Amino acid sequence: MTDKERFVPNSDFVEELSKRPGGEGISKCVQCGICTASCMVANETDKYRPRKLIQKIILGKREEVLTSELPWLCMTCRMCEERCQEGVSIAEIFRAVRELAAEEGHIPDVFSDTVDLIAEDGWMLADSYTDFQEDDRLDLELDPDLGWNCKFSKKVKKRYIDGE
Ligand code: SF4
Ligand code: SF4
Repeated sequence: MTDKERFVPNSDFVEELSKRPGGEGISKCVQCGICTASCMVANETDKYRPRKLIQKIILGKREEVLTSELPWLCMTCRMCEERCQEGVSIAEIFRAVRELAAEEGHIPDVFSDTVDLIAEDGWMLADSYTDFQEDDRLDLELDPDLGWNCKFSKKVKKRYIDGE
């Protein structure tokens, strides 16, 4: 018998999160999946499925959820919240999950590295200032933002969503 087959669901993690600010509404989730269908991040990558992540919490997979990078991918746009018929705020729940994960030392490297980088020179990506400088397009009477935004967006997607 594998570990997966021996897993016994329990509600301890739900109770723990319910007591934290932002985690109160988790037990209202009925696993309908509208959140995933509404989510722009889920639209970009198959690995991010908010309904599935809530399911793991409901099943009590505390360690798996707290050590996962997935709760950190929520952009807190709250589109799912607007559409959820049960009034669940996934953005708030995942914020509570991230706070708990951070308290236990589980911050994905990409985010802690970014904090270091911002503290070091004020930019999220090491060469973004260079990109911006390259955009001295105004002097050439070109659109100052178009090329830079496109390049920057691709880098953010690659780093934070694709995990490359
Ligand atoms: S959070 Fe809301 S929309 Fe998402 S699965 Fe649960 S009930 Fe459905
Ligand atoms: S708040 Fe998070 S989970 Fe909800 S739609 Fe936005 S990115 Fe997706």
